[in-house]
Amino acid sequence: MTQHGRAVPSDLRAHRRPGINYDGLPDVLAGTAVEPGDAAYAGVRSTYLRGGSPGLVLRPQSPAEVVEAVAVARRHQHLPLGVRSGGHGISGRSTNDGGLVIDVGALDAIEVLDASRRLVRVGPGARWKHVASALQPHGWALGSGDYGGVGVGGLATAGGIGFLGRKHGLTIDHLRAVELVLADGSVVRASDTEHPELFWAVRGAGANFGIVTSFEFTVDEVPDIGWAQLAFRVDDPAAFLEEFGRVTDAAPRETTPNLIMGRSGVAQIMAMVASDDPDVVVAQLQPFAEIAPLVQQQVVIAPYASVMNMFPDAPHQGRGEPVSRSGLVTELTPEVAAASARLLASGAVHWFQLRSMGGAVADVPRDATAFAHRDARFSIVAMGANAQRVDRAWDQLRPHLSGSYLSFETDTGPDRILEAFPPATLARLRALKAELDPTNLFRDNFNLATPPTRSLA
Ligand SMILES: Cc1cc2nc3c(=O)[nH]c(=O)nc-3n(C[C@H](O)[C@H](O)[C@H](O)COP(=O)(O)OP(=O)(O)OC[C@H]3O[C@@H](n4cnc5c(N)ncnc54)[C@H](O)[C@@H]3O)c2cc1C
Repeated sequence: MTQHGRAVPSDLRAHRRPGINYDGLPDVLAGTAVEPGDAAYAGVRSTYLRGGSPGLVLRPQSPAEVVEAVAVARRHQHLPLGVRSGGHGISGRSTNDGGLVIDVGALDAIEVLDASRRLVRVGPGARWKHVASALQPHGWALGSGDYGGVGVGGLATAGGIGFLGRKHGLTIDHLRAVELVLADGSVVRASDTEHPELFWAVRGAGANFGIVTSFEFTVDEVPDIGWAQLAFRVDDPAAFLEEFGRVTDAAPRETTPNLIMGRSGVAQIMAMVASDDPDVVVAQLQPFAEIAPLVQQQVVIAPYASVMNMFPDAPHQGRGEPVSRSGLVTELTPEVAAASARLLASGAVHWFQLRSMGGAVADVPRDATAFAHRDARFSIVAMGANAQRVDRAWDQLRPHLSGSYLSFETDTGPDRILEAFPPATLARLRALKAELDPTNLFRDNFNLATPPTRSLA
């Protein structure tokens, strides 16, 4: 490694942020690094939801360069450190003000390792829409989330609650091995047989332990699927929610519905049925169509990849900080439905979404992965602009929650960590964190080092 830094004109040097040894960058990183004042800076400073002004964005092009980038981060441990794959973090701070960002977006290869076992290797920088498109010609799919622009790195280290979830489980349930760079720069492969405790931890709390440079997944055989978008007129939100819960619980596990509701009196259900048989699709969707008067409906048989490719990519120009609250419930009881309806009526949230879980998600034992809330049947997300207002409204739901999914929560304070990880899981994670990241290098996303002292809501 040589350390010559970068040739930067003096007018650009004026934009440099304090505390960063720009001229000490190793050559292998200097060529692709971006700093304030660079033409490329506007395109990398912010993420999808969050505005930022990092002092330096390192863009390693290989796992070996990630090792170099982690060494730079260790030398700058006084500064915030963001780790970025696809830039869609909600809990994760993959940008910051004046700190470092390690952006592994260039590690985006998708390759079939063994077709007979449907074993694929995916880089953290790949987007789920690209993964879906690459798997489609084989008749395969890997459930991720509801939005194809999300990156593999952030989602596959946290959980992955997606439209194939009730049939095929979480994204992390398909992981067979990961390679990652730890805080001390060592490169480790973790699987059931190699560093099994780390492999357990990566599947739910990966961001705390290193930077994953590749994921190996077993993917599913998925023929075309049924895809429905149903819009309803809703006069009584609490009754609608309760009925949505009842119908979802009764649905066969091929069907995974999500619900979006606002104050407008309209609700939208987006549901996937993991079957290409129109009779099965219609039969499984019919009970949903009967929940309330339909104002719009569209049902198609389509490749899974077309759902993931539904939305075009937008440039990442997030502003400010999102405010998002996440809760898991084992049942959509009348109390949960009523509290959710009051939350909607409060006007404090502009985005309210229920994702269904259960089915194959619950087949996995609670202690098999660091994501432990296997009994949750719904994930609830509420987003708003003002943390105090959102919390006042959300507090009504808290007594009914069984846990939290960290990817949808922006308050990384100690209470939220207790909700995201049950006590036995948290104790195991903290022991491993102390062993593998004793100086707490990776701390931007639900910091597990004991005990966190401030809330970043
Ligand atoms: C529009 C939208 C829709 C979403 N829908 C769903 C959904 O349906 N289901 C679901 O489960 N989630 C969903 N999410 C949440 C999403 O999974 C998380 O925000 C995820 O962290 C995004 O991953 P990313 O790589 O794009 O994000 P980034 O912003 O790049 O990273 C987020 C955080 O993940 C960690 N991280 C990133 N890369 C790595 C790596 N290589 N190694 C270790 N840690 C890393 C870091 O802590 C980082 O701060 C959604 C998010 C958005 C914005």
